[in-house]
Amino acid sequence: MALIELDGVTKVYPNGRVALRDVSLSIEEGEFVFVVGPTGTGKSTLLRLLYRDEAPTRGRVHVAGFEVHRLRPGAVPRLRRELGVVFQDFKLLPNRTVFENVAFALWAVGTPAEWVPGRVRASLELVGLADRADAFPHELSGGEQQRVSIARALANGPRILLADEPTGNLDPDTSWEIVKLLSRINLRGTTVVMTTHNKTVVDVLRRRVVEMNDGRVVRDEVRGRYARPGALP
Ligand code: ADP
Repeated sequence: MALIELDGVTKVYPNGRVALRDVSLSIEEGEFVFVVGPTGTGKSTLLRLLYRDEAPTRGRVHVAGFEVHRLRPGAVPRLRRELGVVFQDFKLLPNRTVFENVAFALWAVGTPAEWVPGRVRASLELVGLADRADAFPHELSGGEQQRVSIARALANGPRILLADEPTGNLDPDTSWEIVKLLSRINLRGTTVVMTTHNKTVVDVLRRRVVEMNDGRVVRDEVRGRYARPGALP
């Protein structure tokens, strides 16, 4: 079985909105996958099913050996140790320092207290922010805040990093810094799944591209571009 597998997955929200329609998808360990497509086509929902923020209505979701579609609530923290998640709006705690923001991710999954400081430092070093551990989020630029959120996501040493439009709030230069950092993390062996509207990034990196439309996977290319060949810009 692949590291991530969706098999016939449909997601209907309680209000009746169908966000995913019979999606099957398989992602191997070590891949870097862009998920593209218009707004409202189910990209975020796809990620939410992987980290068990939502449960599928039908179908099976396997992540890092967990049967996520029928995971007991008590097992969710164990799943979350295998996954880091970053968001467009960073979701940092405003009244906590950079150090505490990263440490919270470790406490949340029950990491022994004596391991926490070393892991926080290692994570901050990885993203180049070891010298900002005592800063508060509002003292950092957007790119730095996103790097803190990446450090937080990686603190548990997860096998998978999920990034939901991580460059959506950033200018082009800063977006590239973040994407280069994610590429570096991928080269160290972490599987990266990133939703994005950033055409330039997708077209330059030429990684696997999964395109969604109206809740379905409509394209899956090994070295894809943002738009399908021949599509109008
Ligand atoms: P994308 O990430 O591609 O923009 P989403 O996965 O966020 O798409 O949304 C897919 C569809 O599901 C949209 O029509 C959206 O409005 C709807 N949706 C997303 N979250 C919820 C929710 N919690 N409740 C009801 N509908 C939702």
